[in-house]
Parts: sequence; structure tokens; C-alpha cells
Amino acid sequence: MNIRAWQIANTKAAFCLIPAFLFFFGTGAARAGPAEYTWDIGRIVSGQSLYTSLLEKQIPSRAIHHIITGLKAHIDFGRIQPNTAYHFRMDPSGELREFTIESGHDLFHLSMGQERYGLSRWKVPRRIQMDTVRARFEKNLSETIRRAGEADDLTQSLEEILLQDLDPVIELQPGDHFRLVVEKIYGGDWLLRYGEIEAFELRRGEAGVMAIRHGDQYYDGVGRSLKRKFLRVPLHYQFVSSKFMQERKHPILGGVRPHQGIDFAAPLGTPVWAIADGVVITAGWMNGFGLTIILRHAHGYESFYAHLNDFGPEIRPGGTVLQKQVIGYIGTTGLSTGPHLHFGLSCHGEHRDPLKEAFPRDTITQEDELRAFLLKKQMISSILSADGQTGRGRMP
Ligand SMILES: [Zn+2]
Repeated sequence: MNIRAWQIANTKAAFCLIPAFLFFFGTGAARAGPAEYTWDIGRIVSGQSLYTSLLEKQIPSRAIHHIITGLKAHIDFGRIQPNTAYHFRMDPSGELREFTIESGHDLFHLSMGQERYGLSRWKVPRRIQMDTVRARFEKNLSETIRRAGEADDLTQSLEEILLQDLDPVIELQPGDHFRLVVEKIYGGDWLLRYGEIEAFELRRGEAGVMAIRHGDQYYDGVGRSLKRKFLRVPLHYQFVSSKFMQERKHPILGGVRPHQGIDFAAPLGTPVWAIADGVVITAGWMNGFGLTIILRHAHGYESFYAHLNDFGPEIRPGGTVLQKQVIGYIGTTGLSTGPHLHFGLSCHGEHRDPLKEAFPRDTITQEDELRAFLLKKQMISSILSADGQTGRGRMP
């Protein structure tokens, strides 16, 4: 099936692609089951056994017993891969009617007969294919993904990407169009599960962002990492109480002086993070700034955190810190009118506005690695153009 044909098939299958596949194998298309039988999907997450996962799905213990005893001669339960899905349906009286799970290259199907459960087993030829998924975001990601004819697993993988500290921040807004290039693992013609999201493209009006996976990171079209090397904001704050300004009337000392930093108001004790990996230059009292930490980072940057209540664990001059490590807690020490963080940034000794700074990024520089990346980009572009939509937005 080519990508296009698959999409048409997929659109028809709408919300129930995986159950549809079970319906096909499980009951045979001719024997359409009663409408009140509904398929449900369970998943054995990392650290869980099939047994505990079934319990969590509130499958009656008698049925769990049948599943376990029916399958134990065929499946090594200790070696079930994390994230393995299973599918089942119960009748209205709460009896298990069918149960299906995939193990190795086989698909196992248990069905409730008159007296006992019957077990069938199929060999499923495995096929991995790169496909595109196209959607328009409305309010809720999981609804959007389902409307695109895909299963919830894909929502999860996409959410994991969106939650990374990416620069630019990729935050979906209603009306945004996005396309994904995702690996799909098929058994025969049917989707078994998703692999990696190899690329995603977001369009908002004329603007666009493209991200391509390489190794364990996402890069833009020219091979610049989207991973944020420097955070712009080192805490969860309530509001900015004072911006970066070259001239400001000082709230306590009076007179006009520059405010070379940003004041973030936040409750006392809120953790403050290092904006990037670095070395602690200062961790101590600095006159009007109260308890202060200064960190030195790569590329000539220094970051400055003042009015803290306390330092984070093991923060001392000369020590090293990692990005997003807790280095201190919000306070109001020194010349301060209330709990807030005065956060400053400098590059080669010059004060900078953290919210406006164009921070450097990691770039793929090694020649053969760059070549591999560009090849992949080419492949992604051809998959996307086979999808039929011509690019409108400007892609970096
Ligand atoms: Zn300040």
C-alpha cells in the first residue's frame, strides 16, 4: 500500500484503526459482533507485568487467570517488551470475550467459546514504513491526533517532543497545521505500533518551523539543534516585576540607574535553576543583592541570581552545575521589596537582556555526520512532498 492509499484507508478507519485490525483477525469480517462489545486497549508499561496491567484495566480475576494460563506456554512473560499493547473486549455482563496480544512476530488471540477459551496464533510479517500524519490543532492534542485517524500512542510521543526545552518554543495554538513523518510498524497491512517521530513541521499562517530527528535530538533544516542550550527563564515565576532597562528609577535607593537584569516575582522558596551547564564563581552575600550566585558558562556567558533565600544542595564556589539543576530558592535578601529573583546575564562582561539574547546552538559540524543528516532531510522532504501539500511557510 502506498502512503496515499494508506491515508485513504486510514481516514476511513477513523478512530479505531487498531481495534479494526483485531476485528478482522479476531472475529472475521463476516461475523460482525454485537454493537455492545467494545474493544479496549491496554498497555504494559515499563516495570509492569501483564498481570498487573490487566488488574489495572479492571479485568475480572477469573478472566486474568484464563489469559495467563492460556498464554503462558507460548509467551515468555518476563521478556514482554515495555509498551506492548493488548486489546480486549468484554460483554455487557463483564465477561471477557476476546483478548489479543502480540509477541515476537506472532499475534495471539483468545476467544471465549461455549465453555472455554480458544487460542489462535498467527505469524504476522513485520513491515516498517515512514508515513505522514497531517492535522489541524484545535484544542486538545489527543483529540486532534484521533481526528487524524491515529491512535493515542502518537499523542504521547508528540507530547514528549513538545515538552522538551526547544528553541523556538513549539507551542501549538488553535488553527495551527502540523505534519509528522513517523515510523509505523505494520503487521501485514495493519498498524501495530508507532516508531520514532522522524520529523515534524508546524505552520501558523505564513510562519513555519521544521524539526528533523538526528540521533536523539531534533534539528532545523540546516542542522542546528533545537535543544535549548541556555534557558531564558530560570524558574516558574508569577510575573515579571521589572524588565531589563538601561534606565529605571530605583524602587529603594531612588535616582535613575539601569536595571541590568529581569525581576521575576515568585513565592518564597520557589526553586531557581541554572540556565545552562557551568561553574559556580560566586555563592555568597553581595551587599544590596543579598544571597547571590554567579555562574560561568560556555561562549563567554555569565548568569547572575540575586536576593535568594538559600542555596541548592552542594552549591559552592568552584563546583559545577548542570542545566536546570536547582541552585537556590527565591527569597528577598538584600535590598528587596518582596520575594523575587533578580536574574542577570552577561556575555564577555557586557550586560545582556536574557529575553532577547540570540544564544548559540549546537550545530552538526562533522562532515560525514552532516552528510547523513542532509540525506535524511532529503528523504523527509520527499515524503512530505509525496503527501501532496506544497510548502507555504518559510522553512529555516
Ligand atoms: Zn532586579
